[in-house]
Amino acid sequence: MSAHFEQNPADVLARLGALREGDAPTHGGRVLSYVYDSGVAELDELAASAIRAVQPVNALDPTTFTSVAAMEREVIGFARAVFHGDEQVVGTVTSGGTESCLLAIKTARELWRADAARRGIPADTVVPRILAPSTVHAAFHKAADYFGLRLELVPVDPDSGLPVAADFAARLADADDVALVVLSAPAYPHGVLDPIAEVSALAAAAGVSCHVDACFGGFVLPWWPGLDAASWDLQLPGVTSLSADLHKYGYAPKGASVLLQRGRDRQRQQYFATTGWPGYPVVNSTLLGSKSAAALAAAWAITQTLGGSGFARLTESCARATAALADAIAGIDGLRVVGHPTGPAIAVAADESVPAERRVDPHHWADQARAHGWQLQLQPGFTQSDGTRLPATAHLTVTPVTESRLAELTTALVAAADEVRGVPAVDVTPLLASLGGAFGGALPAALDAASAFAVLQAIGLAPDAEGSPGEGPADAALPERLAPFLALVEALPPAVAEPLLTELIARLVEPA
Ligand SMILES: *Cc1c(COP(=O)(O)O)cnc(C)c1O
Repeated sequence: MSAHFEQNPADVLARLGALREGDAPTHGGRVLSYVYDSGVAELDELAASAIRAVQPVNALDPTTFTSVAAMEREVIGFARAVFHGDEQVVGTVTSGGTESCLLAIKTARELWRADAARRGIPADTVVPRILAPSTVHAAFHKAADYFGLRLELVPVDPDSGLPVAADFAARLADADDVALVVLSAPAYPHGVLDPIAEVSALAAAAGVSCHVDACFGGFVLPWWPGLDAASWDLQLPGVTSLSADLHKYGYAPKGASVLLQRGRDRQRQQYFATTGWPGYPVVNSTLLGSKSAAALAAAWAITQTLGGSGFARLTESCARATAALADAIAGIDGLRVVGHPTGPAIAVAADESVPAERRVDPHHWADQARAHGWQLQLQPGFTQSDGTRLPATAHLTVTPVTESRLAELTTALVAAADEVRGVPAVDVTPLLASLGGAFGGALPAALDAASAFAVLQAIGLAPDAEGSPGEGPADAALPERLAPFLALVEALPPAVAEPLLTELIARLVEPA
């Protein structure tokens, strides 16, 4: 052991191993969100070897570390071919879907500002808008917040999860403050494909750029059975940029996504460059400065190795498993699949067409499935800007490994439904009343860290003052059953729910 060390590295790694035991399983298909298991162990080994090969590299500077440029060029080349981009399409490998979306919005803002200046619109007083269906990923809420744009959500039909093209047409008419239209392929909450051909054409006619967020579906839809790529990808002339995550159905470890942009001059707006300091000249294609090449190398190795035919095989497995699961769920009395998903995600709501005693609340169902060892993702109900309501759902992301576990999974889903059928959704009215009471009648309009923590304690989501040391926040996990928690999140106004959730997460990393 090196004289520099205070602890034996083997002991430190043993502790990491013990910590990892507490994690949700990343392989085997038991967690139907967050992780994308190809089911091919060799791909994980390949990724690990590629990561080791570039471990010390700084991807900040592709002129010093030339392997970075070579790998990125080849990944972009692969993506451009897969999404039918022509030679005008250029791209960047980013750290993930959120970064791709942030950069698409930054690009749109710069272009809008330049255009506003040309047209004499006062860019310092007008806040440009982004138009997107309600189901657009939260990354665009974040992007609007970070880059100072206004996200205008277009309602979707609660049954199909789809927006109506005419609603975009109305909002695009004479609107010189629209910087970008965003559509999803497919949208994460329900797995349905937006009407991209129609809406991108409307955007083009209005002279507005259109981003396709294929972060979720990008590396499955090109091979999805029966799907015409002309309905969603870069062969549509109105689609001006497209994002697709390599760390989802590209099966790479977290930290890799691609952002493709139509036209060099558009894409150059994504960059940040400065010579305005006494240090080295800075040119950044992405948000970070110094950065890892690990996920890029892993994604490069995987795309090179699998090639189009490998992706096609893995996609066929996802498609078969998704169809079988959707059929099995449609056969469960009291549940219904929302809309017609295109791609490997399913959202399941209560079937309101049957009497209450036969209905299955999707959140109770998800909690019960978790007790059987399968983790579905709970999605709260959501009220849209026109007052219509998207139902609470349970979300299932299907990966290639799912197919080998289909019988087990289906049995668990059927049993879970039988066990909670007729149980009404959680009613949080009493809890809300007691919380309001604790604050002298009504919840405060804004919560600081201390009062947010007090609320978490009051509802049992944080250890109280007498909490034993073992129950410190660092070891805290969410309760076994999430339905009451989600019901609370759904019922509270965002101005209260958001600081509560922030507090819950922020306390996790506070040293004892
Ligand atoms: C996952 C996802 C994102 C955000 O990506 P992260 O990789 O989680 O940062 C954006 N859009 C869609 C549709 C997604 O599924």
